[in-house]
Amino acid sequence: MNIIVCIKQVPDTRDVHMDPVTGTLIRDHMRAILNPFDKYAIETALQIKEQIGGHVTVLSMGPPAAKHSIEDALAMGVDNAILLSDPAFAGSDTLATSYILSQGIRTHGQYDLIICGKQALDGDTAQVGPGIASFLDIAQVTMVSHINQITRTSLRLTRLMDNEETRIDVSFPAVITVLKDIYLPRYPSFIGKHRAKQIPIKCWTQTDINCDAKQIGLNGSPTWVDQIFSPQVKRVSQPVIADNTSIQKAAILIVQTIEEMQ
Ligand code: FAD
Repeated sequence: MNIIVCIKQVPDTRDVHMDPVTGTLIRDHMRAILNPFDKYAIETALQIKEQIGGHVTVLSMGPPAAKHSIEDALAMGVDNAILLSDPAFAGSDTLATSYILSQGIRTHGQYDLIICGKQALDGDTAQVGPGIASFLDIAQVTMVSHINQITRTSLRLTRLMDNEETRIDVSFPAVITVLKDIYLPRYPSFIGKHRAKQIPIKCWTQTDINCDAKQIGLNGSPTWVDQIFSPQVKRVSQPVIADNTSIQKAAILIVQTIEEMQ
């Protein structure tokens, strides 16, 4: 059983600063962390491995500093790690990112199950898991909240969406994206942290994974960011409407709401 977990290093949202002039993220000296959803993906892989055996690899696309998040994953008990890093990948949107990751997975070779977090804390699109499945042309199940049954060839899963649960059987190879409900991520042990330092992280570039230059970076990205801005909060506190009947209070509230919307 070969499991690949896709993990992303994201800005720590407790430490985000925007440039007031350009409206863009100030990335210098910004603290970065392992995407919280991806810890659940790692834990899912480790739980599956502990039940039926296998090998867990983490895969990340990002700058060299993404190694820190990879080390966190290794400390949790992952077997090995690959970082896809090349200046040519910069500016990739979700389509190009999914393509690059799928090329990394093809280059790695054997894969039964690919696990992603539900979404990344920064980009927040939840598009990359489905994108990888499309590029590899394999099955996908998103929003997995529970694994009901694990076999060497398939999974029985619960998918949770809009408060509705669906039971799904999926055969390998497949991509799943997991929710926070699935398992509680383990804390890395001291031994795990020590072990992580001993495992070499493979670093692959565009040529190592045979990427088509037209499908990566800004050239391979059909979406672009038009503008980034913080929404203006128009709502101001209102005095309590004290001396009116219920109907009058409701009418005043409706008028205020319409005024705020205009
Ligand atoms: P989601 O789809 O929400 O993530 C879901 C899951 O997919 C994650 O939990 C994780 O398991 C997996 N995943 C997502 N991204 C990765 C990854 N990189 N490696 C491994 N697994 C992953 N971002 C940059 O960091 N640098 C840039 O230069 C850059 N340029 C951009 C330019 C444009 C025009 C646009 C539109 C976006 C750019 N981005 C850049 C943002 C980048 O495209 C997204 O962050 C990335 O595609 C992932 O999308 P997401 O954050 O919505 O992830």
